[in-house]
Amino acid sequence: MDRSWIRNSKPGDREYDAGVRQFINFAVKNSEGCEKLPCPCHKCHNLLHKRVDEILNHLTKFAFDNTYTCWIWHGEKMDETHVGKPKNSVFEEENVVEGDNLEDMLCVAQDEFNDDPSKFEE
Ligand SMILES: [Zn+2]
Repeated sequence: MDRSWIRNSKPGDREYDAGVRQFINFAVKNSEGCEKLPCPCHKCHNLLHKRVDEILNHLTKFAFDNTYTCWIWHGEKMDETHVGKPKNSVFEEENVVEGDNLEDMLCVAQDEFNDDPSKFEE
């Protein structure tokens, strides 16, 4: 996805407007039904959550935060924009998944312990 408009254009430019529309589409698609999303305008810096129409309004008035080229606050994974991916990245991702599962299992074990401590006495 071409993000050069974030740095190279400003509100009012046709390129900027097209880019903002592209961003809004992306954000809505990844919002998982959330009504408010982080606003990436120059003033909010993704710190403030706004409705989509407010974000659109901000991005029309204020410039898009020009450091925000990887849209991690709007559902984008860091890895997807890395062009020269290291070969062992798949292996690393697998490790992360295992770690998550372990955490889930610990959570479940903790829950069961709370429900019925006698199960763990054997
Ligand atoms: Zn804003």
